[in-house]
Amino acid sequence: MSYLEKYYINAENELEERRMRNRLLQEERISEAEKAIPQLHELRKQLMASGTKLASILVSGGNMKKNLEQISSENISIQKSIKELLVQNGFKDNYLDPVYSCEKCLDTGIYNNARCSCFMNDVKKFECMDLNSSSAMDLCSFDTFDLGFYSSETDSKGVSPRDKMKRVYFYCAEYARDFHLPQNGILMIGGTGLGKTHLSLAIGKDVIEKGYSVIYGSAPDLFGRIEREHFKNTESSDTLSLLKECDLLIIDDLGTELDSKFNYSTLYNIINTRMNMGKPLVINTNYKLSELQERYSSRITSRLSTMKILLFSGEDIRLIKKDMK
Ligand SMILES: [Zn+2]
Repeated sequence: MSYLEKYYINAENELEERRMRNRLLQEERISEAEKAIPQLHELRKQLMASGTKLASILVSGGNMKKNLEQISSENISIQKSIKELLVQNGFKDNYLDPVYSCEKCLDTGIYNNARCSCFMNDVKKFECMDLNSSSAMDLCSFDTFDLGFYSSETDSKGVSPRDKMKRVYFYCAEYARDFHLPQNGILMIGGTGLGKTHLSLAIGKDVIEKGYSVIYGSAPDLFGRIEREHFKNTESSDTLSLLKECDLLIIDDLGTELDSKFNYSTLYNIINTRMNMGKPLVINTNYKLSELQERYSSRITSRLSTMKILLFSGEDIRLIKKDMK
């Protein structure tokens, strides 16, 4: 099985599950409405009977035109009565209609003779999940982020690392909660062990739960992958396209990847393509802005500086945790 085939099968299964859920939802709505409006049941029976009649006319022939007109006007008047009853009883007039998750393809997965975007989004989602399977996304959430590790000692301006990190934390939590496209990205700057990875993963986790495709990876891992695929010319996967197209890309530890022309042009290519499409990146780095400017070209840093910059403060949490043991 090719690597893509696997994701297509997953997406087909997802689509089937969605159709099933929507059918169940419609059935629940029908029984709810029929309980509230007893006449509905009889009207719906009549509606179905007229559908059967219509089918039998088509089969039997006869004076088809006249019969068709009569039944379809009957059909329309029943539908009208049903809608009126629904509205009178506080329901929406389309409450009993089939439910579709995708209005474009009506959950068929096909639109304009091609795969619908909803289907391709699922394929992408499964590809991303595969790439992320080794990451610690499950362990890092906003709930497990502990502001208690940041000192409450204030500086000359009366602000403590904890105060600063509280703001960073709430910014990230809100960013994840309100995630939408197009959207600006976040550049997290600060020393080792200040919680950048934790908050990046927490954002990723929440955004995935909203149904978006997210890729998380460390800079050396992601760029190493792309380089191997590029030079070995393997067709087993296309990480570069995924990194350009996923809804949210999280790059951990920017600056620790190999210092090479290939990586710089790849990084620019990814950032530039994504920004043009309004698709955000969350990048975290131990480098200060001035150090990033030394390491990368101005065309990269000028794009990075359009992102929301969050400065992380405090002392290495990993060391504090070690001391406490
Ligand atoms: Zn669709």
